[in-house]
Amino acid sequence: MAESYDYLIVGAGFAGSVLAERLAEGSGKRCLVVDRRDHIAGNAHDRTDQAGILIHAYGPHYFRTNSDKVVAYLSRFTDWHPVDYQVLVWTNGKYWQFPINLNTFEQYLGRPSTTEEMEATLARWRVPVNHPKNSEEVVVSQVGREFYEMFFRNYTRKQWRRDPSELDASVCGRIPVRTNRDNRFVTEKFQALPRDGYTAMFRRMLDHPRIEVRLKTDYREAKGQVKYRHLIYTGMIDEYYDFAEGRLPYRSMRFEPETIPKEFFQPAMQVNYPNDFDYTRVVEIKHATGQKSPVTTIVREYPEDFGPGKEAYYPIPADDTKMQYAKYAERAEQERRVTFVGRLATYRYYNMDQVVAMALTEYEKLKER
Ligand SMILES: Cc1cc2nc3c(=O)[nH]c(=O)nc-3n(C[C@H](O)[C@H](O)[C@H](O)COP(=O)(O)OP(=O)(O)OC[C@H]3O[C@@H](n4cnc5c(N)ncnc54)[C@H](O)[C@@H]3O)c2cc1C
Repeated sequence: MAESYDYLIVGAGFAGSVLAERLAEGSGKRCLVVDRRDHIAGNAHDRTDQAGILIHAYGPHYFRTNSDKVVAYLSRFTDWHPVDYQVLVWTNGKYWQFPINLNTFEQYLGRPSTTEEMEATLARWRVPVNHPKNSEEVVVSQVGREFYEMFFRNYTRKQWRRDPSELDASVCGRIPVRTNRDNRFVTEKFQALPRDGYTAMFRRMLDHPRIEVRLKTDYREAKGQVKYRHLIYTGMIDEYYDFAEGRLPYRSMRFEPETIPKEFFQPAMQVNYPNDFDYTRVVEIKHATGQKSPVTTIVREYPEDFGPGKEAYYPIPADDTKMQYAKYAERAEQERRVTFVGRLATYRYYNMDQVVAMALTEYEKLKER
């Protein structure tokens, strides 16, 4: 006889794992979590490579949040290692401070400057746009054309294979422009990495007598094998509906690690390459994890089109894709025994803390039923 569970949960990333933990521990439910990958933690998965360096397998995951609730929840499963995430840009043959701030402006001038001078200069450079509708407009209206070309245009084109003018204002609008000396990449009040890594944190979260995890198991396979009362789906929503409304576009990525026999390879955790090479950035996560070793591993990121055999990393935020997704969202609203949660199921880029918050909210709704 088929085994039976209260919940079948598709995906062992943040969305699926938080819900499994809450339903099992908070409501006494039996959960089966399946993931078609061979590991837990979804895109936040980290692992120790052959050189003994802890690397983030699917691109760097900088945990940060303003939510005390999310920190309190995750702190049940991990201690934290505080981090100051540092990002530089390589262009015109040198490293530049990023996000743009007074230090970047001084590098550009080649001499000391002041906030007043930077503000006055930006005021001259800015292209007036009343309500920026896309990513090009949002940047040129803040810093003008020259910095747009130096730092934003080609990076965005490489990353998304769309011109910034064809992307939501939110894509480049997320990156701050400052006229002080604040070099921080992100400004959320809590910025830290799980002390023993993400995978260890997920292992503790899923280690519960009412949670069973099956890896290398696709939803299509699992649904025929077990009985369940409710489905939680954190995979691609278009795939769930057999692409009935057409395929939603995603961007994929190729990650190429390289171990280098020296303590550090580059001056910061992340270096962006807007105008050189095919990769967008080189990440040396050792700067952030604080791991001590005489060798280091860097990971180069090459954006790619999504297709067979590739992972869907980024939903593409633009007007046309939102309209296409809306058709799937309409179908999803009709479902009574399925909850769609997380980044792929709601076709939207979320940071990890947002997905944790979303999963905790979904749990409250499921509890009330
Ligand atoms: C390159 C990159 C860098 C990022 N950097 C940051 C960062 O610095 N800070 C930050 O806060 N966020 C970052 N994020 C976002 C972060 O990865 C997401 O917020 C988070 O992983 C979302 O969790 P999730 O559970 O929704 O999705 P996922 O982590 O993608 O988990 C979904 C899981 O479902 C599985 N699955 C899908 N379909 C099926 C199926 N049919 N059957 C079985 N299993 C299935 C997948 O294998 C996957 O493991 C980054 C994302 C990417 C791609």
